[in-house]
Amino acid sequence: MVAPDDPMWITVGTLIDGETILKGPAHVVFNSRQILYTGSADRLPPRRVLKEGQTACDLILENYTMLPGLTDAHTHILKGGAELDQSKRNAIIKKDFRTLVTEALARAERLIPFGVMAMRDAGDKEGVGVALNELYHAGTTKKVPYIDSPAAAIYRRGQYGRFMGLPLDEHDSYDDCVKARADSGAYRIKLIVSDIVDFNTGKVMKKPQLSAQEVAACVKAARSKGMQIFAHASGQEGIENAILGGVDTIEHGFSMSEEQLLKMRDFDIAWVPTFVPVQFYYEALRKNKAGWKQLDILKKVLDQHAQMLIKAHELGVTIIAGSDAGSRGVPHGQGLLNELVLMEKAGMNPLDVLKSATGTGSERLSFRDKIGCLKKGYKPRFILTRHLVPNGVEKLQLDKYCFFDGALFESNENDTLAGL
Ligand SMILES: [Zn+2]
Repeated sequence: MVAPDDPMWITVGTLIDGETILKGPAHVVFNSRQILYTGSADRLPPRRVLKEGQTACDLILENYTMLPGLTDAHTHILKGGAELDQSKRNAIIKKDFRTLVTEALARAERLIPFGVMAMRDAGDKEGVGVALNELYHAGTTKKVPYIDSPAAAIYRRGQYGRFMGLPLDEHDSYDDCVKARADSGAYRIKLIVSDIVDFNTGKVMKKPQLSAQEVAACVKAARSKGMQIFAHASGQEGIENAILGGVDTIEHGFSMSEEQLLKMRDFDIAWVPTFVPVQFYYEALRKNKAGWKQLDILKKVLDQHAQMLIKAHELGVTIIAGSDAGSRGVPHGQGLLNELVLMEKAGMNPLDVLKSATGTGSERLSFRDKIGCLKKGYKPRFILTRHLVPNGVEKLQLDKYCFFDGALFESNENDTLAGL
């Protein structure tokens, strides 16, 4: 019998710690609360992290790669993305709060076997993300991924964002608006700076909702409370306002320009490109052999996005993976795995893609828990796979083991996505 807090010592063939890759055997020692040690198998772990008198590892997994649990930096846990019927999707938010929380919790509980162990929710006006954040920290009966939430996103009345936000216009000042979010349990602030890309033209058709000065005022108010601020922005004008306003991350960022990438690098603004919702729409059109003109437009949008992602990566812009799970056609869990494949297809190498969903996010997004890396002091949340993920991230979709604070989950690659 091993007590839950006894250290476990595993030797794996390859270790990706969230930042670097250690090929050749590596030792990992952990208990159910934290990683105690990681290092090359050239030398033994220090005795103080091992069980008394232990001289050999508990388990040798020489054909396995270990990597941190993945973070999805852009989700909407309130909604399941697998549901395609728009009337059913609209009906979701008419349910009472308790039902919404119960359903979202059940959804979150299914994500760990996919390898998704943390998420930054992107906002809901019902307060479901905040409720899940509270349940996570209180410790629910079942394990759920880390989640934090901005509560209701902030948008301009009459503009895009009503389904996930509450208007800025309800408040007398930017400070009041940010304070209202903080009071309702937001961990960070989400701004909706622009509309979305119009799938018929490939462009954002409306002027941005918020000027650069307004974004800057919200950023100042958020920072005064020690909160990060992330911005939904597509189209060059909207992106520009988000950049000049000084947000922490830009979400989506369709129609990004190279000059804007340079500014993002210099101002340390990260990018969460969220390919999957647009890719889903594109694939659906293609399958139905419908809308040739629209198909052509969407292909150009996606190709330009892929080109800019590679440019951003070359220039040194921080890239963080996020799926926009909960959007139509983007199931939670699977959505992130699909996003990673699209980032690799765009031309990022697999290790950099994996970093964007592990160490880079944990470094940049200021999570409340130590997650996303496999280093001393981090939470023991990781994936073990016998498939060579350093050669291609699509291998994350195959069978794997997922460990989360001492609990073991087997991947459910054949499981239904219904409800996710
Ligand atoms: Zn979103």
